[in-house]
Amino acid sequence: MADPGTVLPDTMGALTFDSKREEWARSTGLVKDRVPTPRLAEPDGADRSNVLIEVMYAGFCGSDRGIWWRKAFGDMILGSLAEEGKSTRVVGHELLGRIVGMGDRVAEKYGYSVGQVVSTESHIVCGTCFQCRVGDTHVCAKDKIIGISTDGCFAQYVKLPAKALWPTDLDKIRPEVAAVQEPFGNAVHACQATELRGKRVAVIGCGTIGLFAILIARGMGASQVIGVDTDPHHAELARRLGADVVLTPASPPADRPHASDPELIARVQELTEGAGVDVAMEMAGFNSSLNNAIKSTRRGGHVVLFGVKNGDAIIEDIHRIVMNGLQLHAIVGRRIFETWELTRSLLENRANGIQDAVWEVILNKGEGTMVDFADWERQAFEDRIKAHPKVVIRFAGH
Ligand SMILES: [Zn+2]
Ligand SMILES: [Zn+2]
Repeated sequence: MADPGTVLPDTMGALTFDSKREEWARSTGLVKDRVPTPRLAEPDGADRSNVLIEVMYAGFCGSDRGIWWRKAFGDMILGSLAEEGKSTRVVGHELLGRIVGMGDRVAEKYGYSVGQVVSTESHIVCGTCFQCRVGDTHVCAKDKIIGISTDGCFAQYVKLPAKALWPTDLDKIRPEVAAVQEPFGNAVHACQATELRGKRVAVIGCGTIGLFAILIARGMGASQVIGVDTDPHHAELARRLGADVVLTPASPPADRPHASDPELIARVQELTEGAGVDVAMEMAGFNSSLNNAIKSTRRGGHVVLFGVKNGDAIIEDIHRIVMNGLQLHAIVGRRIFETWELTRSLLENRANGIQDAVWEVILNKGEGTMVDFADWERQAFEDRIKAHPKVVIRFAGH
């Protein structure tokens, strides 16, 4: 049932990429655009399990940076636009919004009601492939990603399947933090790869997800957290979030960009009684950080792979991975909805200080990190995303 009280405008504001307007390879950024407002055209048919959401806040993700600078997701965006026979993609997938309309099956099957506040899993899974049938929906073979392979939430309204939504209680999580549950969940998933309680952990790459991971590793009881990052601002944030020490890796030699940094590894060993860390998380995405992560890990330890980018990588001394009995874990998305459940309890439990730290340190209490969509301007926004690890766009927030 659509809410009869809500009459939506025919068009809405959105941040888009348009393949007719700009060539992928020769452009950057997003354009503030007007596009048709999505509709529940068939609330008793094709839209019976869909909802229409008024966007309150939307987080700007690392993958959105990839789109902004045309470094990632070009194939997926252009391919999905061609499939849909259109040229405009509304970007954005980190959402907090309010339900303003629902198909006729949503209330009964999913328990939502109009007016309810929700976030969303960004991977829309098929429900029928092998992985989905055995409960590994986070690695669905046919998933669509909101804001990449289907229209997203940098817009005043977005239509989503009810099965992807996650109910959010604003009495327990402040809305600006609730808007970043999805990327926070990425870090939670990485920290779920192996036991962290009492463990020594290195977080290699202290961008947004690395910073979240430092907080979560602390919250999950890691005994020591070592941050690694070259950026002094990131290093300072990492310290404020609870990293015991933040090390600066040397740049690899120009002719061996994959090479690990022997001094960094020696320093990690020194800090861990010569053993190396129990768990290293690679969250920077450079080939050299991958080797730094592997070489910083103690024999029998765990390496969590998260940042690694497209293309080939060189692993140094690969035999040592076997001989040292390392375990490698690859992290994609979030376990649906196991990771969301843990995300909620980590954020709602005020005693652990995580929610406050996300707001005060990562979101800098909103200073410079919150951008009103009404005032959105391309160059000013680009300056914000360069200055802060996380920026949130306010659409209809209070
Ligand atoms: Zn994201
Ligand atoms: Zn599937």
